Amino acid sequence: MNLSQHLKNKQLFKTGILINGKWIKQDRTTFEVTNPSNKQQIAQVSQATDQDLIDALDTSIVAQLEWRQKSAKQRSIILRNWYQLIIDNQDDLATILTIEQGKPLSEARNEILYGASYIEWYSEEAKRINGYTIAANNPNQRVQINFEPIGVCAAITPWNFPNAMLARKVAPALAAGCSMIAKPSSLTPLSANALANLALEAGVPAGLFNIIHGHSGKIGEFLCTQTSIRKLSFTGSTEVGIWLYQNCANSMKKLSLELGGNAPLIIFPSADLDNATIGIMQSKFRNNGQTCVCSNRILVHSSIKHELITKLLNQISMLKLGSGLEPNVTTGPLINNNALIHIQSLVNDAIKNGASLHTGGRISSELQGLFFEPTLIECPNNNIRLFHEEIFGPILAIYTFETEEEAIKLANQTPYGLASYLFSQDIGQINRIMEQLQYGIVGVNTGLVSAENVPFGGIKMSGLGKEGGKSGIKEYLIEKYICLSL
Ligand code: NAP
Repeated sequence: MNLSQHLKNKQLFKTGILINGKWIKQDRTTFEVTNPSNKQQIAQVSQATDQDLIDALDTSIVAQLEWRQKSAKQRSIILRNWYQLIIDNQDDLATILTIEQGKPLSEARNEILYGASYIEWYSEEAKRINGYTIAANNPNQRVQINFEPIGVCAAITPWNFPNAMLARKVAPALAAGCSMIAKPSSLTPLSANALANLALEAGVPAGLFNIIHGHSGKIGEFLCTQTSIRKLSFTGSTEVGIWLYQNCANSMKKLSLELGGNAPLIIFPSADLDNATIGIMQSKFRNNGQTCVCSNRILVHSSIKHELITKLLNQISMLKLGSGLEPNVTTGPLINNNALIHIQSLVNDAIKNGASLHTGGRISSELQGLFFEPTLIECPNNNIRLFHEEIFGPILAIYTFETEEEAIKLANQTPYGLASYLFSQDIGQINRIMEQLQYGIVGVNTGLVSAENVPFGGIKMSGLGKEGGKSGIKEYLIEKYICLSL
């Protein structure tokens, strides 16, 4: 498939690595990128050599020293230019995203706008990195607190939101005065390259934002162990997050880890069931169930279970599987064959352990590609893998409870702590439950919680640190205390 034929701006189709403002392709080994809708090859992308990694770091160090000298306003203007170019090129960026990742074009466009919103927001926040003074204990002293850029940073990003997860790391880093070396997922490198190309066009200086592709373990080790990289921001699985945490110990880097989730979504009898149904559909089937904040476990009060299932089955029947480029398609493929096998094995395990399948439960027999039928499954207990593992696919798993205490206990029965949701009209109950949920994010009567202006992040095995909002930029700053004796 020739991807560039689908693009108005052919410059956005880049298959190299980006070092010091130059796209490098020649004499590099390559890896294949495929379209999950039809398994066809769409690109061969260059892998970084050992020397490329060193060059990326060296140029990042030099570029950062110059960038931090720029005024906040100068940095802000460049970020704003970048935002505008993304808006101008949103159709092409969405097309690249759909072709390499699979999500429907409308969802891809939403992701592009969502990613751009971080760049816009941090272009504004760049101007609001304010220090403060403290009344000193000694009358002959003055105490000043400054916020300074942490230095050279690195980002490792996943395939499920290949544009937005990168944007929400690079934007605050650049706004703070840092440089960034990014390693995108090998499954979706083209969205990252397109975004970086627009950054160059917007005036981001050469070397400030480098992109390296290739063997993840080798690049990961390099990024962890280099002492001149002062911050690593990772979004991906908990397993890889733990590995990175361990490997960053010797260089004592600051870390942000946005890891996996196992979100409960609790529905109480007082809930508006139509609204809850919308919330479940949004939180479960967006990106075909492949988001870290997907509702993984629907916990419903037994008195409203039948009504809820009827409403959900009606909504699921309206989903249309297919290639994301086709109009009216609501649900794309899974990312690869391993994901398909994983989803099927979760369904099989649940059925073996007494769950009843209401719809779906199998790989699509009508479509070529990596399509799994949207599934609704009713689970009699929590002794199944579905309850404990992050699903990352289109399985809606329903469990029942009788009391508030039981709902809270079930909701917190996981080592993860990213997103959670509850639906109720009882304000006392809402307050009691939201305070007891052991999660970094709680959505009340809504299934959509992500935005550029809020602190997004998990607790427990879902990670460390926050992305977005005022907290997001602090991850890229050091707080310097100055004691001035007069
Ligand atoms: P993954 O397998 O952990 O991969 C994520 C990134 O890490 C990819 O770029 C991957 O590169 C790289 N990687 C893999 N092994 C590495 C290593 N040893 N050292 C350095 N980098 C390494 O996760 P994924 O399957 O792409 O993403 C899905 C996971 O991300 C889910 O668990 C989901 O919940 C989580 N997620 C979390 C958030 C959040 O904000 N909390 C948001 C989105 C996704 P290669 O592709 O080249 O192997």
